[in-house]
Amino acid sequence: MNIHEYQARAIFKKYGIPVPNSVLCHTVEEVKEAMASIDHLVVVKAQVLVGGRGKAGGVKLAKTKDEAVKAAEQILGMDIKGFTVEKVLVADAADIAKEYYVGLVSDRNSKSVTLMVSAEGGVEIEEVAKNTPELIYKFNIDPMTGLLDFQARNIALKLFKDVKLARKAADIFQKLYQIYLDTDSTLAEINPLVVTPDNDILAIDGKMNFDDNALYRQPELLAIREVDEDEQKEIDAKEKGLSYIKLDGNIGCMVNGAGLAMATMDMIKLYGGSPANFLDIGGSSNPQKVVDAMNILLSDKNVEAMMINIFGGITRCDDVARGLITALDIIKPKIPIVVRLSGTNAAEGLAILKATGLPTVSTMSEAAQKAIELSKK
Ligand code: GDP
Ligand code: MN
Repeated sequence: MNIHEYQARAIFKKYGIPVPNSVLCHTVEEVKEAMASIDHLVVVKAQVLVGGRGKAGGVKLAKTKDEAVKAAEQILGMDIKGFTVEKVLVADAADIAKEYYVGLVSDRNSKSVTLMVSAEGGVEIEEVAKNTPELIYKFNIDPMTGLLDFQARNIALKLFKDVKLARKAADIFQKLYQIYLDTDSTLAEINPLVVTPDNDILAIDGKMNFDDNALYRQPELLAIREVDEDEQKEIDAKEKGLSYIKLDGNIGCMVNGAGLAMATMDMIKLYGGSPANFLDIGGSSNPQKVVDAMNILLSDKNVEAMMINIFGGITRCDDVARGLITALDIIKPKIPIVVRLSGTNAAEGLAILKATGLPTVSTMSEAAQKAIELSKK
């Protein structure tokens, strides 16, 4: 899950990271109202769940009320990388002497949270990471000690010669780390963190991602969650006892078991195909689950063939076959389906499915090849 900049700013503020004042507006009218009591430079910023707004024209400085209104008219409704701008943040503009980058990510290799800082912050940080990665300083935070004062200061001193500034920055790093822990983040970024000509430090953009698996213990985040269509499907699937992740390919997969689902996607790739999803229907043969799973797969317009891959362990293949027939009766899917049954009572299951005329196979590789072949017809 990710959040808007204005929501990240609110979290920063709660933890004492300095952020300029701002007002969230949904309409041009609201911008007019907000500007009634403001007579200084502001910045009007698109609030969309995607980065690179500045480059896309979604961040505009405005000296007067009229300019702010004009900026809002341009930005509201704008499309940024497929996201329509439905709200703008009108924020007190910072006077910027220099822009810095600060970010925290979970690093699997070091099994720790990595703090990244750079004096090359701003809209070109991706280019910096690609072309001159040595300009980004990285520090793995020991989870047992956290980010200690002297460590935070030493890191800050890599960005700032001025000790006072370094202290302020160190404090921000530590606060951001505390936020990261408290909110089960997987990414927390301030880009840019700016220094003003008066040597103030301000966070003027925030990006945060959170671990979806931890949302059950983050009620405040759950309450502000905005989901897109694909995420909604994943959430609906979860409520039905299915683990579903949408992917970009055209072969829908329905599998019992997460490991087998991974292997199924690998097998499709191996034969040159592309899976449309990960879908684990779990260990039951309940026809309702098969119906739910099929509905999810068929709602994806990219799906051109379906590969059903069942390994019978405790689940018996003949039960699955009966569930499948019930489901097919209810849904009557129009796309080709190939079924692979193996394991407990596979022969009985395959015999039951014979009557449906569906192509049935007994190995995964046959199933993957058949599904790819059928998807091309
Ligand atoms: P992003 O492009 O989505 O990352 O949006 P940002 O909020 O980071 O803004 C992009 C760029 O706009 C920043 O790197 C700044 O150069 C500029 N900018 C944003 N806010 C301000 C501000 O308050 N004052 C000034 N002078 N420039 C700003
Ligand atoms: Mn930014």
